[in-house]
Amino acid sequence: HLSRRLATVARYIPQGSRLADIGTDHAYLPVNLLKRGIIAGGVAGEVVRGPFENAQHEIQREGFSDRLTARLANGLQAIEPGDHVDTVAIAGMGGTLITNILTQDFDRLAGVTRLVLQPNVSANQIRQFLMTHGFKLVAEEILAEDGHIYEVLVADRTTETVSYTADELRFGPFLLAAPNDAFIAKWQHEAQRTREVLQQMQGAKQVPTAKVAALTAELHQIE
Ligand code: SAM
Repeated sequence: HLSRRLATVARYIPQGSRLADIGTDHAYLPVNLLKRGIIAGGVAGEVVRGPFENAQHEIQREGFSDRLTARLANGLQAIEPGDHVDTVAIAGMGGTLITNILTQDFDRLAGVTRLVLQPNVSANQIRQFLMTHGFKLVAEEILAEDGHIYEVLVADRTTETVSYTADELRFGPFLLAAPNDAFIAKWQHEAQRTREVLQQMQGAKQVPTAKVAALTAELHQIE
């Protein structure tokens, strides 16, 4: 079965959808969704040969080669028009990498109406991307597992103008409206880390004042 983290991602993949799981590694997510009859099929994309071969093996072993295609490709280049993908999942990476992947080959998202993204850090960058690329958040989750805290961002295609405040971009509009224990723990930890970095800077020579100012502002925002 899936980890709590991937199970949370799975909950937001629509019934009957065609999924591209980018950075799929063992293809656990799409294989699990096929087994449970949730997705109709799709693509499992990987840029590194080892994980790509893991995905191929898993798909063959579970007998889904007819509906799920493993592709060795960089990011969204794994998606081809004939795949008729409508949902994209990208999980287990930093928010900066996820944002880069989405931006690099944005045209490949032409038929995609839902994104389910699970950044380990820097979710704010993803929210900024969504706001400026015709997607709006429809749900967010934050959860702790094995000493790590993970966020899951769910976004749908929209023609509306979307605008998030600075606080919503950093903390998440849905998470901010209903903070749970994981949310509090994450931001207490982030505040403490920022204080420590600022303290180290005060002891050092030649620290750019802009950097100190930015971190101080960030700390105030978190507090
Ligand atoms: N998605 C799985 C999960 O959440 O459990 C695997 C996460 S694993 C930590 C990240 C995977 O993303 C690695 O297998 C890595 O090779 C892959 N990856 C990193 N950059 C990628 C890119 N630009 N395109 C496709 N895959 C990428």
